[in-house]
Amino acid sequence: MSLGRTGGEAQERPLAATTAGEPIAADRGVLPGEDPVEEVLSLLRARGGRVTSSRRLLLRCLFGDGAHRTAEELAEAVQAQAPDVHLSTIYRNLDELERLGVVVHAHLGHGPATYHLASETHGHLVCESCGTMVEASEDLFASLAEEARERFGFVIDPRHFAVLGSCRHCAPPDSRV
Ligand SMILES: [Zn+2]
Ligand SMILES: [Zn+2]
Ligand SMILES: [Zn+2]
Repeated sequence: MSLGRTGGEAQERPLAATTAGEPIAADRGVLPGEDPVEEVLSLLRARGGRVTSSRRLLLRCLFGDGAHRTAEELAEAVQAQAPDVHLSTIYRNLDELERLGVVVHAHLGHGPATYHLASETHGHLVCESCGTMVEASEDLFASLAEEARERFGFVIDPRHFAVLGSCRHCAPPDSRV
């Protein structure tokens, strides 16, 4: 399976010290709690990241139905509103937002990585026959995590790769519960 677009793992890079505060885009004075995007942007500022209009747009595209989009799909969504934002800017921003812990990526199958807000992560079960995806809270993996730690000293990250298999409709009848 391909490891995605970079070949390396953006989120596994050590958290380097961030270069401190360059001037930040005008704060529109939104109170915390009013707008979830502004909350993520405050977190970004607190971690030393810059808030630019393309980042604000990008984060807006990741909310709601926007999770599980690839970098190219996100670029399309951003470019629908800001046609001058180049794909390379989207990649750069996604890398930087991951490094700052605001965004994470997940591999749902053979295709390119997809992105989530770090505050909205979960595990994924993906059907290899029909592509149906189930979002599964991380407690589903609790016993596996415990067993892996006990037997191998291994700490699993259930959010990074999907578990592939067959959904309830595609599973052979004798294996259905
Ligand atoms: Zn990855
Ligand atoms: Zn997801
Ligand atoms: Zn299926």
